[in-house]
Amino acid sequence: MQTIAIYPGSFDPITKGHADLVKRSLSLFDKVIVAVSINHSKEPLFTFEERAELTRIVLSPFGSNIQVISFKGLLVDVAGQYGATGIIRGLRAVSDFDYEFQLAAMNRNLAPNIETIFLTPSEKYSFLSSSMIKEVASLGGDISKFVSPEVEKALVDKLRVNF
Ligand code: ADP
Repeated sequence: MQTIAIYPGSFDPITKGHADLVKRSLSLFDKVIVAVSINHSKEPLFTFEERAELTRIVLSPFGSNIQVISFKGLLVDVAGQYGATGIIRGLRAVSDFDYEFQLAAMNRNLAPNIETIFLTPSEKYSFLSSSMIKEVASLGGDISKFVSPEVEKALVDKLRVNF
């Protein structure tokens, strides 16, 4: 039977840290559903359509083992719909732990049959976050090491409009 995991996030925008986690997830699961959240408490820079499209472009080299979807509502419900038995989340630093621990505990209460799996990225991406990328890009810094060329271009275009 095919093993399926779901990797949720805001992906605003997708970075090489996210992609690194997707690659690692594929060594554990046959298929990974990358779920771009539509409703998010953080005010996103990109619309959910833009975030999903960029995520699709960046992850296309992984082929059909990756499916990018957009979702709203409860993650565990979406996980159930797609037959996922694992939720992938990333841990970069201790600062991620508190929130991720609470989220995993809540998801376990809501769906005891789905396990959260925490993965750590390659050390070179361990400090990387979408918010850091947006900040550096808005100040004119070079982000080419941390995002794909498509994301870099999208950020430059978006920030030109916004500032
Ligand atoms: P959210 O708003 O749900 O945290 P993000 O897109 O910021 O959405 O992150 C989604 C998941 O990916 C989170 O578990 C986050 O810790 C993880 N993540 C983001 N960037 C990295 C990175 N550089 N290395 C490892 N995990 C990461």
